Amino acid sequence: MENKQKELDKGAAASDAELDKGSMHWSQQLAQEVVQKAKEPYLISAGMTTSGPCHLGTLCEFLYPQGIKKALEMQGKKAKYYFVADIFDAFDGVPSVFEKYKSVLEPHLGKPLYVVPDPTGKTASFGEHFMTEAQEIMKHFGVEAQIIKINEVYAKGAFDKYAKLFLQQEEKVKEVVARTSLRKELPADWSPIMPVCEKCGRIATTRVTEHTDESYKYACDKDVKYTKGCGHKGENKLSDHKYKLNWRLHWPSWMDYFGTSIEGAGVDHHTRGGSWDTLLGIFKEIFKKEPPIGYKFGFILFEGKKYSKSKGTGMGVSQLMKLLPPEAIKYMLLKPDLQENIDINPTSVNMLRLLEDYQGAVALIGADEESMSRADRKRLQAARLSKIHEWKTAFLDVILYRQLYGSWENVAKESKDAAGVKYLSHYIEEWEKAGFIPEEYSYKYMPHKAEGKLKEFFESLKDGIQPIEIHNAVFEFAKANSIQPGDFFKSIYQLLLGKDKGPKLGKFLHALGVSRVKKDVL
Ligand SMILES: [Zn+2]
Repeated sequence: MENKQKELDKGAAASDAELDKGSMHWSQQLAQEVVQKAKEPYLISAGMTTSGPCHLGTLCEFLYPQGIKKALEMQGKKAKYYFVADIFDAFDGVPSVFEKYKSVLEPHLGKPLYVVPDPTGKTASFGEHFMTEAQEIMKHFGVEAQIIKINEVYAKGAFDKYAKLFLQQEEKVKEVVARTSLRKELPADWSPIMPVCEKCGRIATTRVTEHTDESYKYACDKDVKYTKGCGHKGENKLSDHKYKLNWRLHWPSWMDYFGTSIEGAGVDHHTRGGSWDTLLGIFKEIFKKEPPIGYKFGFILFEGKKYSKSKGTGMGVSQLMKLLPPEAIKYMLLKPDLQENIDINPTSVNMLRLLEDYQGAVALIGADEESMSRADRKRLQAARLSKIHEWKTAFLDVILYRQLYGSWENVAKESKDAAGVKYLSHYIEEWEKAGFIPEEYSYKYMPHKAEGKLKEFFESLKDGIQPIEIHNAVFEFAKANSIQPGDFFKSIYQLLLGKDKGPKLGKFLHALGVSRVKKDVL
């Protein structure tokens, strides 16, 4: 199966070049730009400060680079994906999930995340706790990234040459940062480096007081509202590796150090005066190099509201992961244009629509791309990027069978897709628990004897016909007898279920067996 998939992917990639750019999925457009501008093997980097639980917005930060990696690999190119866990950043607030550990954690405010203890004791630090959680989520979604703990890169001295360069050219660097961040001038205590206080361990509260190219003096006396410095004054060499670069310099430095071909960021980093502008300035004016390719992506909204890392909004990733297979969530996030804001509103109607859209897109794999509409080509690419597991039976049909046959063993037998049903059963059980089964699919089969037109209709129904033919037969019969089709559907549901609505009738009668239903109602 995997080989077949690879062949299909290759075949599709070959024709990509012939398609005009506008009809390409964003992953294909970016892959094309990478091939044109960068050198193989390509490096896609991304990074995140793991200071709280993942939400759907952070999920995109893992998935987009993976999409570009896959798009490059589909063209037979070599690509690596580094995910930077930015855990040298200061711990600046207790996330709501850790509210109960507040008293343990608060004394550590202002320290680097990799130094703050993990109150659950599961990992080595607070930063690694959420990094590990992110890694597990990546695994669930088939993301193949190499995780880089940035504190370890600092510890081996990899950033020393950048720190030295920035300190040597401090005035020029300050001018570039101020100009590109649309500030007249930077605060007097601004420095390219942020020392870690040797006495209290904080990084948020220190400032450099004087420096040479190799060493610096600092004071730990800043008040950053959530914590205060201890008053210590110290001196260190760059080669002691007890500093981190200022964010606006840290970001371009990691890309230069890793040799990044492409890295994305949210639109907030890409506004005028945002950190991407500084990155371009640092590459051109300080490193004297061409910058990597950048791309920006929109926000993820939940029922119209922005997600917040500290508070979270609505349904979290872990809840959504219980309700939907990973491939459907990926498809939902990877299909839209990158810069579009994605609004997630997980009602059962919306989730069923998504699942149907996804399964339809999977069915396009292997079809002739040339004759597809632009929209379908993009759906096809999103499906290729999303696919991990496979199932044949439509999600809604599994819900229908579940209601009809009860046990999963019977559902598997009747659907003739045992593996697919087994895979989906966990999700459908969650739908049952959470009350997401649509009302039409919550029913009991209690047939009555048919009379009049209904009797005539069932008599006319032939055994062994397909769901769509049953559906059409209802319409045709209603039309021929001058009955509103909607009313006729209603009376059939009343006859079989004792209510006005039910599952899609064609599928339902087909699943029950036309001959059985006829026996029951005639
Ligand atoms: Zn201190």
